[in-house]
Amino acid sequence: MNKTTYDIIIIGLGPAGLFAANLFGKKGWKVLGIEQYENRWPHPRAIGMDDEILRALGSIGLQEEMLAKMHHLKGGYLRHGANKVFASMDITSDNEYLGKQYLYYQPELEAALEEGAKRYKQVELRYNHQLVDFQQISEEEVQLKIKTKGTDLLELTTNYLIGCDGAKSFVRQKLDIQTRNLNYDGYILKIDATAKDLSKFDYDTDYFHKYCSSKKAWIRMVGRGNHCRWEFQFKENIEDPKELSNEAALQHIAETGDDISNLSVINVTFYKYQSLVHKTWRKENCFIAGDAAHLTPPYAGQGLCGGIRDLVNLSWKLEEVKQKQSSEKILETYRAERAPHFTQYIYIAIFIGYLFKTRLYYLFLAFSYLPFLKNIGGKLYIPPPKLGKGFFSRHSTARRVIPYCKVTPKDAAIQFIDEFIDNKWTLLSKSPVEKNIQHLAASINIQILDISEKTASNEWLTNWMESKRIQCALIRPDLYIFSGGKQLEKVLNQYIHLKKKVA
Ligand SMILES: Cc1cc2nc3c(=O)[nH]c(=O)nc-3n(C[C@H](O)[C@H](O)[C@H](O)COP(=O)(O)OP(=O)(O)OC[C@H]3O[C@@H](n4cnc5c(N)ncnc54)[C@H](O)[C@@H]3O)c2cc1C
Repeated sequence: MNKTTYDIIIIGLGPAGLFAANLFGKKGWKVLGIEQYENRWPHPRAIGMDDEILRALGSIGLQEEMLAKMHHLKGGYLRHGANKVFASMDITSDNEYLGKQYLYYQPELEAALEEGAKRYKQVELRYNHQLVDFQQISEEEVQLKIKTKGTDLLELTTNYLIGCDGAKSFVRQKLDIQTRNLNYDGYILKIDATAKDLSKFDYDTDYFHKYCSSKKAWIRMVGRGNHCRWEFQFKENIEDPKELSNEAALQHIAETGDDISNLSVINVTFYKYQSLVHKTWRKENCFIAGDAAHLTPPYAGQGLCGGIRDLVNLSWKLEEVKQKQSSEKILETYRAERAPHFTQYIYIAIFIGYLFKTRLYYLFLAFSYLPFLKNIGGKLYIPPPKLGKGFFSRHSTARRVIPYCKVTPKDAAIQFIDEFIDNKWTLLSKSPVEKNIQHLAASINIQILDISEKTASNEWLTNWMESKRIQCALIRPDLYIFSGGKQLEKVLNQYIHLKKKVA
């Protein structure tokens, strides 16, 4: 009989796999992450992340490090051929501590995640290791065959396997998972460059600039430091490889009016984007996450973000199963919650795609000439969707993330709410919590965040709770609100009731 050697094996060390290694490493799991290539991918792909992802990085202690390496994006301008700005999006935050969007350099994010994973002694990362076969051999064990640089096949076993192995996922193919295609795809020429002097750009570099066109739309933005990104939309595949040379790329940029003597090209990539959500994300002890589970057009900047959300969602549920606090039934809520959420982001990306690349933008252009409608573009910011129905109550506050804010709880020297929650079930209360409720919460492993003290930092959250007409909220380890309400006992009982269903 094979001896189980790992609690979890993660296939693929892109951002999703590396993030997963940190999450499970922090929980004390014995983790192996494998990557088929010799090194991490050296070129940037994703460039934007939202505040929720920054909070996820905070949960593994990497928020501050990454914040120092990111550019806070304040919004965007929609322009048309003649360079007229006809709509702008304000994505500055009403939250004084975190903005809504940040631009980063993907290789730096992956480097931080890799170093982060190495903090945990029981986490191993192996490059030059390719998964070539696997099967579930018992209720608890999955056996893997891994090709290493030599010819020998390594045989390993694990309790759980997660395929974070990207769009062409071998894990997904082997599990024979069907695909839902939302049938929106296209081609993009992506050019990354560094600018010698950012002050030479005659546009606001804290904003992205989308040039809408039904012929050849394009976008430019300045990422972290002097990293600049252009993305040109194409209707068809580029056949001639010369089109992908640095010279050809600079020519495309020159046509936009940017001074190319100020630039040196880092990377040129031509790729096809798709809109796919795969129909099953779990078979027995094998899971898929990240691009292996879904693909989106890049217009809402949610591909990588979606992968991080998947893992935040899955990891606490797996931990509960491992600790025997929940049965495997809770794992069924992984896709049920995540897939509808990601699908809504795909629809948002498709809407932005239409606005950007078809004559739909003429509508907003027309609005911009009408005094009473001209600011409509400013309202184009679309709030994040709710998670799908899963392990939540039906309360209106449920399925959304608790806002990021400062708190001064009793007996805890912390600043921000996330530090207190720290991946634990938390009952937030705006009034003092009676002894019997304290005992009930403790008996079901729920910690209490009492913000009844009248302090400046509790005021923001108290006001937010008042605006939602709630006295309390039960927050899950992934920062999503399980339920809100006026009575603490009722909210806890909702939890106890649902918990019985996954016991
Ligand atoms: C131009 C562009 C712009 C983008 N912009 C954004 C953005 O602004 N915001 C955003 O959130 N997302 C964006 N995305 C999407 C984002 O880049 C991807 O969603 C993200 O990188 C996917 O991460 P992943 O870890 O799931 O997969 P990948 O990064 O593809 O990693 C999968 C890894 O698995 C490895 N692997 C595969 N098979 C095996 C095997 N059998 N054995 C071992 N290893 C294996 C691969 O070598 C690879 O390293 C963008 C994408 C592109 C192309």
